[in-house]
Amino acid sequence: MKKLEEKIIKEGSVLSDSVLKVDSFLNHQVDPFLMKEIGEEFSRLFADRGITKIVTLESSGIAPAVMAALTMDVPLVFARKRKSLTLTEGLLTADVYSFTKEETNTITISEKYIKKTDNVLIIDDFLANGQAAEGLINIVSQTGASIAGIGIVIEKAFQDGGKLLREKGFKVESLARLQSLSGGKVEFAEEALT
Ligand code: 5GP
Repeated sequence: MKKLEEKIIKEGSVLSDSVLKVDSFLNHQVDPFLMKEIGEEFSRLFADRGITKIVTLESSGIAPAVMAALTMDVPLVFARKRKSLTLTEGLLTADVYSFTKEETNTITISEKYIKKTDNVLIIDDFLANGQAAEGLINIVSQTGASIAGIGIVIEKAFQDGGKLLREKGFKVESLARLQSLSGGKVEFAEEALT
């Protein structure tokens, strides 16, 4: 997605050979106009998949996911990373190792909000080693619902997550694919993958 790539070049900062910071439009401040276009792009890419629900992980997945949900006219459920006082019963859980925080979180979703008849699109902000996506797949699978695909805003193609998920047969669509962050420079992958 051209606009997203331009935004990454203009505002992204490379923190290391493997971490990109995009706090000005996705991970802290949010650019709602760009999020709207991201939501529309996900909606277009998964239009033929009969999606009934979108599932993401708090907090940075919520902005792109809510825009996709709005465009696709389906509800959004976000998995929580921390225990909630009000959400205690009927919880589905999975352990997720966080690439950026270097800690394991138990993520939770109430079983109330995913039915086995659902056809779920998983959305997240970044794809690195695939732990977050695997955790969400794990939780959705516990409900018996189907997984229609995985939509990622920024995939780091030099890490293994995308390959692993595609090898498992999931349709993974990424709106920007980074080939490298070496030497403080962002390079995009040329080939389109679906
Ligand atoms: P994975 O679980 O695929 O290893 O990593 C994906 C998760 O880690 C995303 O939910 C995202 O929050 C975070 N993440 C991974 N790599 C980056 C990165 O380069 N920049 C930012 N801002 N977040 C990242």
